[in-house]
Amino acid sequence: MTLLGFAIVALAAYWSLRLIARAAAWALGSRYRAFRQLAGRFHGVYETRGLSDSPIVSFPRGEDLVRVGLAPASARTPGVVSTRVVVRFRRGIPFRLDLLPASSPRARQASQGTETVATGDREFDGAFAVRANDPDMARDFLAADVRWSIHNLGLLVRPGGLSLAVSPERLLAQIDRDLSDDPEALFAAVAETMAVYDGLKAGVRRRIGEGVRILEGDGRPDPAEGPPVCQVCGEPVVEGDAVVCRNCGAPHHRDCWEFVGSCSIYGCGGKVGRPVSAATLRPAAPAPPPP
Ligand SMILES: [Zn+2]
Ligand SMILES: [Zn+2]
Repeated sequence: MTLLGFAIVALAAYWSLRLIARAAAWALGSRYRAFRQLAGRFHGVYETRGLSDSPIVSFPRGEDLVRVGLAPASARTPGVVSTRVVVRFRRGIPFRLDLLPASSPRARQASQGTETVATGDREFDGAFAVRANDPDMARDFLAADVRWSIHNLGLLVRPGGLSLAVSPERLLAQIDRDLSDDPEALFAAVAETMAVYDGLKAGVRRRIGEGVRILEGDGRPDPAEGPPVCQVCGEPVVEGDAVVCRNCGAPHHRDCWEFVGSCSIYGCGGKVGRPVSAATLRPAAPAPPPP
C-alpha cells in the first residue's frame, strides 16, 4: 500500500517535471523560433534577454550592423507588438526620410527641415506619405526596385502597418505585426529591408559622388521642436520608461535604448543610459506673454 502510494507520487512528480520542461522549451525555443532561424540564415547572433524580453538577432551588413527584434505595444500601436529591423550606420549619412502610411495622423505633421516627396508612382504615392530633407535624393532612393521592396514589406502586415525612417544614424523598418512565430514572414521582412538598405547606400554613394558632405549637423534633437523624440523609433518620448544618454543627454524609450544597445546619436557612442521618467523630459511650458 505504502509502495503504491510512493509509486503514484513518483509518477506524478515525473509527469509534472516533464510538463515544466516542455513549457520551458516552448518559452525559450519554439516561441521565438523565427528569430532562431533568422540568426542561422543570416549567420547572425541570437541574443536572449531573459524570459520576459524578446530576443534580438544581429548581423553585419557591409560596414553596418543590423538588429532585428520586437517592439512592445505603444500608444501608437495599442495592443500590437511590432517587428523592427534597424540598420545602424558606422558612418553617418546626410539624409533624413520618413515614410508613413498615408492614413497615419503623423503623415500630416510637418517636421522641421523636411518636405513632402512624390515619386510619381500613383499607387505608391497613394499608399505612403514620404517626407525627406533632400527630395532629389529621396526620389533617387525610391526607385522602382526599392518601391517594390517597400510594397512587399507592406504585404506582410495589415494596410497602414508599415513605416520606414532614415536618419543620419540608422534605417528603421517597423512592421506592426509580431513575426516571431512566422519564420518565412520574418525572413521576408529582413530580406526586403536589406534590399531597401542596399538602395539607400547606393543612392548615398551617388550623392556623395556629387559632392554632398557625409554628415551635416550632429543629428541632435532641436529642443524647440516640441516633445523630445526618440532617435531610434522617431516617436515622442511622452510616457513610460525613458532613458537619457549619460554622454550627450539624448532621450530614448528604455526599450529602444536596449534594442540598439547604445546611444543612437551619430558619433556619440554612449553606452550608459540614465533612467528618467518620461514626464520630466517634457519641455517646459512656454512662458505666458507679458501683460
Ligand atoms: Zn523609441
Ligand atoms: Zn549619446
